[in-house]
Amino acid sequence: MNPAEHLTYAVFVNDPPPHGSGFLPNGDPKGGSPVASTLIYGDQDAVLTDPGFTADQAHALGDWVAAKGRNLTDIFITHGHGDHWFAAGLLAERFGARVVATAGTIAQMHVSVAARPLLWDKVYPGIPPSPVTAVTVPGDRLTLEGHDLVMVEVGHADTDDNSVLHVPDLGLVVAGDVIYNGAHIYLGESVTVGGFAPWRAAIDQVEALGARHVVAGHQNRHLDDAADRTIAETRQYLDDADDLLKTESTAVGFFNTMIDRYPDHLARTVLWAGTSAIYGVREHPGAEAGPILIAGWLT
Ligand SMILES: [Zn+2]
Repeated sequence: MNPAEHLTYAVFVNDPPPHGSGFLPNGDPKGGSPVASTLIYGDQDAVLTDPGFTADQAHALGDWVAAKGRNLTDIFITHGHGDHWFAAGLLAERFGARVVATAGTIAQMHVSVAARPLLWDKVYPGIPPSPVTAVTVPGDRLTLEGHDLVMVEVGHADTDDNSVLHVPDLGLVVAGDVIYNGAHIYLGESVTVGGFAPWRAAIDQVEALGARHVVAGHQNRHLDDAADRTIAETRQYLDDADDLLKTESTAVGFFNTMIDRYPDHLARTVLWAGTSAIYGVREHPGAEAGPILIAGWLT
C-alpha cells in the first residue's frame, strides 16, 4: 500500500491585508505579501501551517479549513515573523487546535509581539490579540495518522531561527520564508548576519531533504510548488541581490533594478522595506540595526 494513500496536502494563499498608507519610490501604493498556509490531512485529522496575521485572513483561512471536514489538531509556525502567525489564536480557538513550534521560533515570536506597536500595528490594521501560546513537542515531531511531520531547524533565512516542516511520505517541505515563490524576498535582516551566507546554508538544508514539493511562505498562487524550481529561483534572487549590492550605490537604484529584473514578482513593498534597511545600515555605520530595520517598513 502506498504509505501516502490517505495523506495529502492543500495550500491556501491569503491575499495581503490592506496597507495603512504610503507609496513606493516608483509610485505604487504600498501593500504586503500573500501568505501561504498548508493543510496536511488524512482521513480524519489535519495539521495547518502559518495561519496568517489579520482577523480577515483568519476568517478566510478558517472557512477553507472547515470545508475540508477534518479535525484540526495542530497549527505549526515556521518562524517568528508576525505575518505568519499573529492570527494563530483565532484559528486555534475556532478549531480547538494546539499551536506548535520549535523553541527557537517561539523565542522569535516574543520578539515580534514586542515589535507590534512599533511596526506591525502601524502598518497593518486588523491584527487580533496575539499572545504566544505555541508549545514545543518532543523531538520537534508530530504524527498525523501514522505519518511523520518533522520540524527541521535551518537557522537564519529572512529572519533568525527558521524551521521547515518535512513530510517524507508526501515528498513535501513546508518551507516558510526559507524559499520564496514568485514574490519579492525580504532581504533586510541580512544586515544582522553579515550577508546571505546563512540563508544559502538554510536553502542547502531544505534541498538536502530531497522533497519534490516545496511550499513557500510567500507565493504567487498561480505558480506550482516544484522543489527544484523554487529552490533555484530563491538562490538566483539572492545572487542577483548580492551582485547588485556591490555596484548600486542608492536604495532607489537597487529597488528599481530589482523590479526591472523581476517585473512579475509580487510584494514590491517587501523589496523596498529590505532595501531601505540594507542601505540605511550602510549609510549609518555603527548604528543599531533594529531601529533601521523597523524604519525600512515605515519609510
Ligand atoms: Zn514572511
